[in-house]
Amino acid sequence: MHSTMQDVPLLISRILAHGSTIHGRSTVTTWTGEPEPHRRTFAEIGERAAQLAHALRELGVDEGQPAGTLMWNNAEHVEAYLAIPSMGAVLHTLNLRLPPEQLAYIVNHAADRIILVNGSLLPLLVPLLPHLPRVEHVIVAGPGDRSALDGVAPAVHDYEELIAGRPTRYDWPELDERAPAAMCYTSGTTGDPKGVVYSHRSIYLHSMQVNMTESMGLTDRDTSLVVVPQFHVNAWGLPHSTFMAGVHMLMPDRFLQPAPLAEMIERERPTHAAAVPTIWQGLLAEVTANPRDLTSLDRVTIGGSACPPSLMEAYDKLGVRLCHAWGMTETSPLGTMANPPAGLTAEEEWPYRLTQGRFPAGVEARLTGPGGDIMPWDGESAGELEVRGPWIAAAYYGGPDAEPLRPEDKFSPDGWLKTGDVGTISPDGFLTLTDRAKDVIKSGGEWISSVELENALMAHPDVAEAAVVAVPDEKWGERPLATVVLKEGATTDYAELRAFLGESIAKWQLPERWTIVPTVPKTSVGKFDKKVIRRQYAEGALD
Ligand code: ADP
Repeated sequence: MHSTMQDVPLLISRILAHGSTIHGRSTVTTWTGEPEPHRRTFAEIGERAAQLAHALRELGVDEGQPAGTLMWNNAEHVEAYLAIPSMGAVLHTLNLRLPPEQLAYIVNHAADRIILVNGSLLPLLVPLLPHLPRVEHVIVAGPGDRSALDGVAPAVHDYEELIAGRPTRYDWPELDERAPAAMCYTSGTTGDPKGVVYSHRSIYLHSMQVNMTESMGLTDRDTSLVVVPQFHVNAWGLPHSTFMAGVHMLMPDRFLQPAPLAEMIERERPTHAAAVPTIWQGLLAEVTANPRDLTSLDRVTIGGSACPPSLMEAYDKLGVRLCHAWGMTETSPLGTMANPPAGLTAEEEWPYRLTQGRFPAGVEARLTGPGGDIMPWDGESAGELEVRGPWIAAAYYGGPDAEPLRPEDKFSPDGWLKTGDVGTISPDGFLTLTDRAKDVIKSGGEWISSVELENALMAHPDVAEAAVVAVPDEKWGERPLATVVLKEGATTDYAELRAFLGESIAKWQLPERWTIVPTVPKTSVGKFDKKVIRRQYAEGALD
């Protein structure tokens, strides 16, 4: 027997066509720092995406070719998100927080010939251009002094001038849904960054999943403040999923500091926001000092690193509910979301909210124990999380003329992605991560979770941030080192913090090495950079 259903490919151009007509009146609002933000409707975005596609085609962008974007979250970046894949090319988002040599590496490795850049980011791009021999065209969007581009090698275009007067419709090609649509390199915490190439199909299915009620569940009645950057993991899929469902987008552009974010929330009243814990920590400190009305936010997605329970509690008190999510570049990224099961009291919901969340249909999960055994979902047996599904990577990009890469430490022989995250899964499918495999502290044959120590420390009223890393120890192999950032004016000391930890953590796990630091070093995407802390300790900089 054969199915009798139509075989319509799942393409970004269909998301574009749907959003710009059915939801044509929904808007993308971009923060400008001016008295009024800039607003553009989805209908206008659709027309301008067509104009951009015509312009890129004229500049020689063909199907299957990458086009880079070095941009903040804004309306023009949404246009690029939709236009480039819809015309059959590949959107390559460049992570502007990568070190310059890694940024040059990823442009060259992907073989980008065109870069769309925000004017405000030219100081970052211009010094790199001599190291980007393949780049032929630079297209500059938004404000910013262009004079630094005078006399540089590639041809320079102004975004608005380039698209002006071009047809507002484009005959989008009927592509194979498995064709490449977008690519993102991991932040390369070890070795060179590795490229993940998303297909039209994977993005389409991921967008539908993001829009499910048990995930973010947003509709055209919502406005989403998209703080997670479009330059890393497709801003958690939000530009696609919101365009599909008509959700209004509020884009912060380069205004990512706590004060403008607080102002944006108070003035534009988004109902949803998505950001990593460090952003929420900063915003909390800001609104504690300068109170603002955040109550429009009734759903907030937080992830990228573990959300400390104390942070969730503090926002509960402000009437803002944080919902924990887990994912990674290789998982598009949404892998789990911590919406508790139905029918529970607030008290019963609490332990569920602290987990990383539940797997949706479409993400299969298993835990592999230290000896390679598959561990049970009993909420206690820990193992490395492995996942598979239609929006999970099967390999890394090898380069224009090379085979895809499947390193053994990242992909199992039977095709599952090894996430490098260690944790447990409850019988009803809620994931609790205890650590990254490389951050767990191996003390005398037992494992100590650095995340558990950090969460317990950050619950202390004098602690602003805390990162715990493994450091070598003669007797135990490894022991925890706690690096702590104190709140302004705090007077607490190590003995008090240790005693405080002792209330919730087993004695043998308590750190005996402590250091107070002004800030915790962060990675390009705002996570604690434990590699740097370990190096500082090895160099004696933290004694
Ligand atoms: P990179 O580009 O450095 O690989 P990603 O942005 O892909 O970084 O980060 C993925 C990793 O971030 C996950 O493997 C996990 O370790 C961590 N992570 C993401 N969300 C959470 C969360 N909710 N709790 C704890 N860790 C998380």
